[in-house]
Formats: sequence, C-alpha cells, structure tokens
Amino acid sequence: MQAALSEAEAAARRGEVPVGAILVRDGAVIAAAGNRVEELTDPTAHAEMLALRAATAALGQVRLEDCDLYVTLEPCPMCAAAISLARIRRLYFGAYDPKSGGVEHGARVFDHPTCHHKPESYGGLEEARAAALLRDFFKARR
Ligand SMILES: [Zn+2]
Repeated sequence: MQAALSEAEAAARRGEVPVGAILVRDGAVIAAAGNRVEELTDPTAHAEMLALRAATAALGQVRLEDCDLYVTLEPCPMCAAAISLARIRRLYFGAYDPKSGGVEHGARVFDHPTCHHKPESYGGLEEARAAALLRDFFKARR
C-alpha cells in the first residue's frame, strides 16, 4: 500500500486526481500506476485500469488469478468490473468512496449475480493517508 500511495502522490504532482495502484504477484510488483486521465485525455485511464493493462501485457495473459491489487481508493464501477474480468485474487483499497465507489457503495459490482468472479476485498488500508491525499488535492483546486 505504501507503493500505491507513492503512485497517488506522483499523480497529484502531475495534476491528476491522486489515486495509485500496485499489482503484486508472489510478493513482486508486476505493475504500478497512477491516474493519467488528463495526461492521456482518457476518462478510463484510472490507476487500476492502467495497472491491469500493464500487468496483462507484462505477463502475456488475460487472467491475473494469482495477483493482488492494492489501490488507494475504493474502485469505481468501471474498475471493479475490470478487476473481476481480470480474475484478481484479492483487492486491497485505502479510502472508501461513498460518492463514486463501486465496491462497498453504489453499484456494488461484486455483489451482482452477473459478476462471475468476486475477489476477496479489504477496504480501509492506510485509509487516513489515502483520504488526506485526496482531500488536500481537492482543497488546493478550489
Ligand atoms: Zn475507476
């Protein structure tokens, strides 16, 4: 989660919403990414999506069944669906996102009968730090 927070901080320095994601397999980091929505002019360039794409490319496989994803913020519905499609084993996230989250809030993607893979999901890791990063970022923008 420390590495994911570093990615989030780097995203903030680029003027992106500070969210970072790290993909781990057997204790090794396979992919690390931060939000690049503005930079890539791509509304889908969330940290999780970029980390999943980098990991599948690096490993040459679509399914990441033995991989765990660390994200600083509760994934949105799009990312939660992608995490399910990638067959991620465990999801660890930092801050909860009552406004845009799709795991514990809103769409609750993993709880739907049409969701064919439900990763183990653990929220609230380094929650205070992850939330403070976001709060400071948006405070500075107002
Ligand atoms: Zn997302």
